[in-house]
Amino acid sequence: MAHRNTNILTILILLGLVAGALVGEYGLHDPTGANVDQLQWLKEVGNIVLIRPLKVLIIPLILFSVISGITRIGDPAKLGIVGIATLVYYLATMFTAVTLGACLVTWIAPGVLPSDVQLTLIETSQATAAIEHAPRALSSAWLNILYQIVPVNIFKDMVNGQPLGIIAFAIAFGLAITAGGDKTKAARDICNACFEGLMILVRWVIWLTPIGVFFLVAWTVGKIGFASIKGPLGWYMATVLIGLAVHGFVILPLVLYVFSGKNPYQFMWQMKRALMTAIGTDSSSATLPVTIDAAENEGECSKRAANFVLPLGATVNMDGTALYEAVAVVFLFQLFGIDLDISQLAVVVITATLAAIGAAGIPSAGLVTMVIVITAVNMNLTGSADGPLPIAAIGIIIGVDRILDMCRTAVNVWGDAVGAKIITRIAPD
Ligand code: ASP
Repeated sequence: MAHRNTNILTILILLGLVAGALVGEYGLHDPTGANVDQLQWLKEVGNIVLIRPLKVLIIPLILFSVISGITRIGDPAKLGIVGIATLVYYLATMFTAVTLGACLVTWIAPGVLPSDVQLTLIETSQATAAIEHAPRALSSAWLNILYQIVPVNIFKDMVNGQPLGIIAFAIAFGLAITAGGDKTKAARDICNACFEGLMILVRWVIWLTPIGVFFLVAWTVGKIGFASIKGPLGWYMATVLIGLAVHGFVILPLVLYVFSGKNPYQFMWQMKRALMTAIGTDSSSATLPVTIDAAENEGECSKRAANFVLPLGATVNMDGTALYEAVAVVFLFQLFGIDLDISQLAVVVITATLAAIGAAGIPSAGLVTMVIVITAVNMNLTGSADGPLPIAAIGIIIGVDRILDMCRTAVNVWGDAVGAKIITRIAPD
């Protein structure tokens, strides 16, 4: 019965995705862009039907899933091994993704234009405001992350939706109630029971996915329109998509096969609901409830691994974002007539990895943290943060970002799921 329900839900989500794209392209898109404001209601419906109900679950789910994962792992030595293996996995796969992106964009060179082609800056006030407030320097971005990891008030973090502090607290609290033995058994039981209760709620909310995905995709495609994707921007998008496809369909499956011996494509199929939800919501955090549900129930990941690896992964592990940031930054420099040499590409690779770690699992987060990468390359080129590539150049790619965000979020979620499957081997049930 449960299996039949899952199949029905999968078909409905797929229908929502396809119908949303068709309605957006053929029913709503206006090539002159005159009706963009009128489409806003579609986004609002998607928000109310899907994004908000999923979002309300994120913070309690992170708290209880990490505590319950830690209490299941139990032994701190074992936890140390799981923790180190998880971090090595995150860093190695992100680094591979970003290197792949840097190689592809250098090779395809989508931003090297024939002299008669001109691009315009399409600045939207909302995105520009976010970019203006983004941290410029890597050091301040890192200090920001460190502050989040060492929280002073987890209730404030909950209110602000900052998951790293909650995860750090949950790890510490989980260790403490495990170390307490019989005295803290009630706390362990309550946390595990709260986690199970939340997952039941998740399974109810998931039925809203097809409707929410329909409205969100119709809004995205209606606003952008597939036909407008041509010229240098089309090549730029193709470069990102080729990179994401190679990483998602070749590299991550290979890593999964080598480290777990499992059939990666069968596992990808088992995770399909989470991947489609990622495409529809543009947010790994909003997808997290679905990812945990799919990984534990269909993907045969252990609770110990999934409860720990997935919440942390939704916040820090972003292979798709890392790859995208490298392609986008090199593309913009190419547009401004600057070919980066190997040392500047190395700066891109390192800072894009760090910027992806710092990006939140929300729509367009990668676009905002890209400012760090551009600033670092500017500094390397001229010693000044402001040139030769102005930060406002990001406006060139804002218009098509949402479609790329759909795909990179799916790769982000897929990377988390592969990590959970691999760690299941170290921490089986
Ligand atoms: N939307 C992405 C995510 O939630 C982050 C980004 O690249 O913008 O995973």
